[in-house]
Amino acid sequence: MTSALKPRWATPDLHAAIKDHYDGLIELYEDLWGEHIHHGYWADGEPDPGRHAAQVRLVEELISFAPVPRGARVLDAGCGIGASSAHLASTLGCDVDGITISEEQIRRAETKAAEAGVSDRTAFRLMDAMHTDYPEGSFDVVWALESCELMPDKKAFLAECFRVLKPGGTLLVATWCARDDKLTSDESRLLDRIYRDFVVSHVLPLDQYRDLAGGLGFEDVRTVDWSGQVQDTWKLSTDIVKPVVRDPSMIWKLVRAKGMDIFRFLNSVPLMKQAYERDVMRYGVLRATRPL
Ligand code: SAH
Repeated sequence: MTSALKPRWATPDLHAAIKDHYDGLIELYEDLWGEHIHHGYWADGEPDPGRHAAQVRLVEELISFAPVPRGARVLDAGCGIGASSAHLASTLGCDVDGITISEEQIRRAETKAAEAGVSDRTAFRLMDAMHTDYPEGSFDVVWALESCELMPDKKAFLAECFRVLKPGGTLLVATWCARDDKLTSDESRLLDRIYRDFVVSHVLPLDQYRDLAGGLGFEDVRTVDWSGQVQDTWKLSTDIVKPVVRDPSMIWKLVRAKGMDIFRFLNSVPLMKQAYERDVMRYGVLRATRPL
């Protein structure tokens, strides 16, 4: 297997780096990226709704694909600052537990949920999604939006999802994927730079996720590749980043506040764009059911 399809770090080092990344860059993400820390979705042939609306559209497309039933009890595994949790709570009346390994994200998610009036339907906790303390069969839906690529042990993560789902419950995973397991050394190097800048463990081809889920006993496993629908995220994001780079006062403010991480952050955007253009990275979505 291509070396880039294996964990890049030992798990404790990765988790320390993830905490550092998301704690340290929390405002930068929110200012530049918005509250949804994930790709947008641009439907073929429709007018561009703008980046933030495209991110909400992705969430709505995922809700339909899963599907997420009204009033479901949901685990938002790798919840960021809780944008999906709040959306599921407010639009579908779901009861959502969001977990993340960044304390700053928990604080911010709680504040934002209060502002959105969904504190009674959401709870945010510091927890590793590969080993949670939830009793078996706790949730109707496990929702993992762009967090699986950060998990070093994909099988442990999917097995934990299976365990905490109720029989008949639904797993939804949207994650960065590799095209296949036959990447050239140049392509592997590109992925490795992305792993470093986004503190990603590693990506896998979508069919490997399907096999893993099937092997764990999930039923009705369905996958879809949305690379074509999401890759404009990076086109637009490059446009966002350019003015920041060109405005020295903004950049110095950011460097003072965030140190050199800001350069990595800005540099990583063209890398993602390139990864899609060269068909090294793809965007995969998987839904599966825990059998009754
Ligand atoms: N799903 C959110 C955030 C995506 S960013 C959104 O779409 O807005 C990735 C998130 O995964 C971060 O919140 C990070 O802390 C979390 N994460 C990474 N590894 C994790 C782990 N092992 N357990 C729980 N959360 C994890």
